[in-house]
Amino acid sequence: MPFGRGFFLALAKSDFLNHRVTKWGFVRRATKHFMPGEAPEDAMGASAALASGGRGTIFTKLGEAITNRDEATAVRDHYLWMFDQIKAKGLPGHVSVKPTQLALDLDPVMCQAYTEELAAKAQATGSALWIDMEDSNYVDRTLALYRLVKAIYPDTGIALQAYLFRTPKDIADLMSVRPVIRLVKGAYSEPAHVAFPRKADTDRAYFELSDTMLQAAAAGTCLPIFGTHDVALLGRIAARAKALGVKPGQFEIHMLYGIKDRDQQRLRAEGHVIKTLISYGSSWFKWYMRRLAERPANVGFVIRSMLG
Ligand SMILES: Cc1cc2nc3c(=O)[nH]c(=O)nc-3n(C[C@H](O)[C@H](O)[C@H](O)COP(=O)(O)OP(=O)(O)OC[C@H]3O[C@@H](n4cnc5c(N)ncnc54)[C@H](O)[C@@H]3O)c2cc1C
Repeated sequence: MPFGRGFFLALAKSDFLNHRVTKWGFVRRATKHFMPGEAPEDAMGASAALASGGRGTIFTKLGEAITNRDEATAVRDHYLWMFDQIKAKGLPGHVSVKPTQLALDLDPVMCQAYTEELAAKAQATGSALWIDMEDSNYVDRTLALYRLVKAIYPDTGIALQAYLFRTPKDIADLMSVRPVIRLVKGAYSEPAHVAFPRKADTDRAYFELSDTMLQAAAAGTCLPIFGTHDVALLGRIAARAKALGVKPGQFEIHMLYGIKDRDQQRLRAEGHVIKTLISYGSSWFKWYMRRLAERPANVGFVIRSMLG
């Protein structure tokens, strides 16, 4: 397929396109399907609407791999402000950060200090901090960061990717810290010696890992979060949870804003804890290419917005 997953993930790496495409009005309009707007206020407005239907929110400001320390400080300051806003508006909201936004590449000491500061603010404002997982080059450093922060702020969560061969061991190793794990399939372009090239293998690995996490939840040693829109898979996971005596609330389902919204509402009505991750900000190009890679038919939104 000419416009398959690999095509969009290759485009996501282009800094040239990142600067150009984000200025094109018709592409900006197409992103509306996946983000309520670029401003944090847009995201908070959408969060209030979701809250009235019983759904929580995870906020994330788009952008990754910043190029100087001042940018990391600005990201930290923004999220400190965001936690205050969440509290002031009474929103059921958490925040999710990419460690490279907080200078993981440039200054790991600064990254750790800023992540701890955000986790402390999350705790003080009755919220929680999530740490996203980026490409496989960052997994060791992100896990080390998580362990340090989790030891002080126990509600902190981390994303792990089912497509990586290493993830079963990473999950087993984390169990001693009573982890809060958001299991996702994985959104990056990875070499075949690191991750399953075939989606069917990732799907199988996801179910196996979900089983490990649910068994740990039954023993009270893990809070599993299933970050996927794969509703058939979620059905199997919910059935397995029931068989193990793990109740809704002892595990959660997280999905992205604008994707499978009716299923999000249905799952909420069935009693599951649902949180919707809302992205905002102007640096949406790489993130948007990953959404197109997940479902190339999404290009239809771009074409329709181009045609007006
Ligand atoms: C809350 C949350 C947090 C995440 N955090 C991370 C992270 O930290 N690191 C990381 O690598 N990845 C992250 N991801 C992305 C994840 O890795 C997958 O790329 C993404 O969720 C698509 O896979 P899927 O599990 O939905 O399953 P798939 O099997 O790809 O899709 C299942 C169904 O959902 C539909 N669907 C999936 N994606 C889309 C889309 N973009 N548009 C329309 N329909 C779609 C499919 O058409 C299919 O019907 C996150 C995802 C979620 C939901």
